[in-house]
Amino acid sequence: MTDTPELHAFRARIRNVLRQRLPDDVRTATRNGQQLARDRLVAWHEILASEGLLVPHWPRAWGGQDWDVTQQMVYDEEVALADAPELNSVTFDMIGPVLVRYGTPAQRARFLPAIASGRQWWCQGYSEPNAGSDLASLATRAERRGDRYIVNGAKTWTSYAQYADWMFCLARTDREARPQQGISFLLIDMRSPGVTVRPIVGIHGWVVFNEVFLDNVEVPLDQLVGEEHRGWTVAKSLLEFERLKLARIGENKRRMARAREAAVTRGVVGAPWFRERFAELAMRLMALEANAARFIARQQAGEPIGAEVSMLKMRGSRLIQLWEELTVDALGPQAMAMDPAWLYAQAGAAPADALAGTASSRRFLARGYTIAGGSSEIQHNILAKQVLNV
Ligand SMILES: Cc1cc2nc3c(=O)[nH]c(=O)nc-3n(C[C@H](O)[C@H](O)[C@H](O)COP(=O)(O)OP(=O)(O)OC[C@H]3O[C@@H](n4cnc5c(N)ncnc54)[C@H](O)[C@@H]3O)c2cc1C
Repeated sequence: MTDTPELHAFRARIRNVLRQRLPDDVRTATRNGQQLARDRLVAWHEILASEGLLVPHWPRAWGGQDWDVTQQMVYDEEVALADAPELNSVTFDMIGPVLVRYGTPAQRARFLPAIASGRQWWCQGYSEPNAGSDLASLATRAERRGDRYIVNGAKTWTSYAQYADWMFCLARTDREARPQQGISFLLIDMRSPGVTVRPIVGIHGWVVFNEVFLDNVEVPLDQLVGEEHRGWTVAKSLLEFERLKLARIGENKRRMARAREAAVTRGVVGAPWFRERFAELAMRLMALEANAARFIARQQAGEPIGAEVSMLKMRGSRLIQLWEELTVDALGPQAMAMDPAWLYAQAGAAPADALAGTASSRRFLARGYTIAGGSSEIQHNILAKQVLNV
């Protein structure tokens, strides 16, 4: 898409800040698909906060800059192209805006400045062993006793719970009500007695996911967000915050650049098979971007964007996987090594091989994109029912 002169200047400013302030070691680790520890990420959050770039989409009253959706999309794209880490959307895009909208004045004053500083980390406790796509069947329960809830249950696939200070969580407060009506939205301090985090090592070798066990955890009543039993409304509003972002245009561009680089380093960039696949994916990306632009324009004009937007999530997440597959194929057998140290020992360390050493891990990580935030099958259902009326 062509930028207006204002947007061009805005983009140049973001690019400049990222170029100057992103530490080299963070850039290199992100570029190569290596997992960063919490303290390095928090240090990066603090740099962004000092530039006013950590929560620019929040209202000014809470440390943001009231950015519109176009500015947010440009920012996400520049972050990806600069090889800066993807920001933790649970913390900055989900709980922050939820508290702005539904939090009490005391909750806002307590949490929003801490989040905007970049030092407080949140995780999302929705999924359970028997509740994923069908989230309303969740079984974690919160019983009101005096001035607190007593929470019992188990959450799973909780991303970065091992880094988190706080978790926002859905728990059943009324077992008699219809499934979606007896659920409440609670804020849980991860240091509370009775909270146990058990990491799950993924096929990609990263620890992203965790099981979180809640055993008689005491949650003061002032950590309820919105009305009791009405947590489903709060939970659903999270989806609105991220619907456009889930096209992941910036992430797709980052991976397109990496696929090309992989092909150049392995000398296959001119091979017909590579050119054909690259061109096909590049065209899909252009179509995705054009479609995203339509939705952005609608949102900017204050029009409802509707269920149709599911197609952005479905297409954008699948495309990321296809780029990763192309990168692995371009790199050839060396991409099969999950451990770069082993790879270097076998083959000698050429700098470009850092890309090969983490290619499989990145490819497996990308598998999650078509599941998280509503699987592709669920997006198909939404499109079929709500857009095509079948
Ligand atoms: C990278 C990643 C990060 C995540 N982070 C978090 C997190 O931080 N917090 C959190 O709470 N959860 C998180 N999740 C969990 C995620 O929300 C669930 O994995 C997702 O909702 C799917 O639920 P499930 O895994 O139980 O699969 P299920 O719902 O059991 O689905 C299994 C399969 O059946 C299909 N299916 C299910 N229902 C239907 C249907 N009605 N029609 C057709 N097909 C159907 C699904 O598409 C899928 O292929 C994360 C998941 C991933 C992959």
